[in-house]
Amino acid sequence: MYHGAQDGWVEVVSGVMFSGKSEELLRRVRRALIARKRVQVFKSQLDDRYGGIFRISSHDGSELEAHPVSTSVQVAEQIHDDTQVVAIDEAQFLDDGIVSVANALADRGVRVIIAGTDMDFRGEPFGPIPLLLAIAERVDKLHAICVLCGDLATRNQRLIDGRPAPAEGPTIQVGGSESYEARCRRCHEVPLRTRHQTELEIGRAAPSA
Ligand code: ADP
Ligand code: ZN
Repeated sequence: MYHGAQDGWVEVVSGVMFSGKSEELLRRVRRALIARKRVQVFKSQLDDRYGGIFRISSHDGSELEAHPVSTSVQVAEQIHDDTQVVAIDEAQFLDDGIVSVANALADRGVRVIIAGTDMDFRGEPFGPIPLLLAIAERVDKLHAICVLCGDLATRNQRLIDGRPAPAEGPTIQVGGSESYEARCRRCHEVPLRTRHQTELEIGRAAPSA
């Protein structure tokens, strides 16, 4: 896709953990650097799983330096006037203010690339990602491979001692392959999850085959 010097926009790379969001973000940033764009990369401070908080690493081991941030204001404050591309990884951990920051940057001609997982471990929308998906010009939803059945994985399975974690746990709990795995909708297990009333009614109304 063509990115002229003046056209700002927002693109979101979302999907389940292990689906290659960081890989894809790194690929886009590297290409922007090859095109001699002035690029700034940010990453939520919460996620310091790989090689310290100043790096974005994908699960395949490639890396890039990133500014650690905890809030959307910290992103806004660190942007240089002449920056042309802003990339933000693990954006699910940031606040909703990131939506206005992304919009303001795109309005003034910056290409904004945001990566983040779209659902929490219960399978519910995660942090500001749903809002970012709504305002983005371009959205890519990536899939991993379900570790149980081999289908396309869309859900983050949280594990405690190798067993599915119950719904009442904290939404944010940073972890890697020791506490999360990628699963499809059918294999995703959330003990004690209560669905909304409408969903229960849909369940009841379903014809019994
Ligand atoms: P994300 O940022 O979405 O968590 P990464 O870019 O960090 O993903 O890592 C993607 C890589 O993870 C894949 O290229 C693959 O090597 C590895 N991987 C590990 N588990 C899985 C899985 N269940 N399905 C797909 N890829 C996996
Ligand atoms: Zn499955």
